Amino acid sequence: MHNIRIEDKLSNFGTTIFTVMSSLAQKHNAINLSQGFPDFQPDPHLIEIAQKYMDSPFQQYAPMPGTADLRETITEIVQNCYNRKINPDTEITITAGATQAIYTAIAAFVQSGDEVILFEPAYDCYAPAIIVNGGIPVYCELQYPDFKINWDEVRSKVSPKTKMIIINTPHNPTGAVLSAADMLHLIEIIKNTNILILSDEVYEHIIFDNLQHESVLRFDELFERSIMVSSFGKTIHTTGWKIGYLIAPEKIMSVLRKVHQFLIFAVNHPLQKTIAEYLKNPQHYLSLKTFYQKKRDFFISRIQNPFLKIFPSKGTYFVLLDYSTISTKKDTEFAIELVEKHKLASIPMSVFYHQKKDYHLLRFCFAKKEETLLQAVEILNQLNPS
Ligand code: PMP
Ligand code: GLN
Repeated sequence: MHNIRIEDKLSNFGTTIFTVMSSLAQKHNAINLSQGFPDFQPDPHLIEIAQKYMDSPFQQYAPMPGTADLRETITEIVQNCYNRKINPDTEITITAGATQAIYTAIAAFVQSGDEVILFEPAYDCYAPAIIVNGGIPVYCELQYPDFKINWDEVRSKVSPKTKMIIINTPHNPTGAVLSAADMLHLIEIIKNTNILILSDEVYEHIIFDNLQHESVLRFDELFERSIMVSSFGKTIHTTGWKIGYLIAPEKIMSVLRKVHQFLIFAVNHPLQKTIAEYLKNPQHYLSLKTFYQKKRDFFISRIQNPFLKIFPSKGTYFVLLDYSTISTKKDTEFAIELVEKHKLASIPMSVFYHQKKDYHLLRFCFAKKEETLLQAVEILNQLNPS
């Protein structure tokens, strides 16, 4: 019998760290601050609207680019937050979460041999999508310890083969945010090139300390060549609904939709109707930064362990803790010890570097009920070097 040879285009990748750590947390009955998702219910009013639409005629395929009312609501969000008028018919497509949006953007434009610049630590779905599509990831490193972009390094890595630069602000896993000055550097670097920007802004409404979220949608020079990605999972506490979206100028969007229609065609219809209605009220997204800043402060102010160093989190719902005074173990090993021995799950940061760079940092998600955060704090405060 012929022994078929299976070639794995992603042979360098295993199961995602989020699945690995959440499964471990379950197995050991640990407090789970690893995978990023809220452990509280969304607004009951949102659920009421969802129930209404579950009992409505909208149970068949949604329009390919998304429902007209959800695209309309998104234009209002963009107008309110970034003062840009976008065309709901031609410049927005609703996707099955940001993950599909990112894959679609990369698949639509990256061809064999194209280079894509990305910043490490990098959210885990970027590099595999580049590689599956024949592209070459070109890594720039965010500068430890404040995780800022070194724009000279970016400039030195731009080549005639650079097809795309992927940015992510607020940044998962570090909680760093890009400033207006960063965006100006980016504009200067891509001027007179054909480089596209893929801007992952899923935490656009979760930014702290009165900082302003610097969306690509604020800058004309970026908008004309950008694909902006966001996700309602973060904004309305429904990561399990998997609904996100792409925004891009028509010239780019028409190419994105060609891929989108063959990848997924359309996304959950009643839930699109639900989100469209719910987010007509801007308070539901404008209040998010205060809501999560309170959770961040609740969590970090209670961590009183001289052996743990807390890194600043300016956005997202993650915070990094440095445990190097407690253990010299690799972060992946220490994260496992923390689950198995202490019953607390986190994400080791080295997995977001292609060469597994280890700064002895663990990422903790604070999108949790106060009681969950208090249980986690109790464990964290007892860790010591013994
Ligand atoms: N990008 C970043 C930076 C994320 O943290 C996540 C996951 N929360 C995604 C993309 C994927 O979002 P979604 O769950 O909507 O696919
Ligand atoms: N974005 C979430 C995180 O960073 C996880 C999403 C996922 O599990 N794919 O934890």
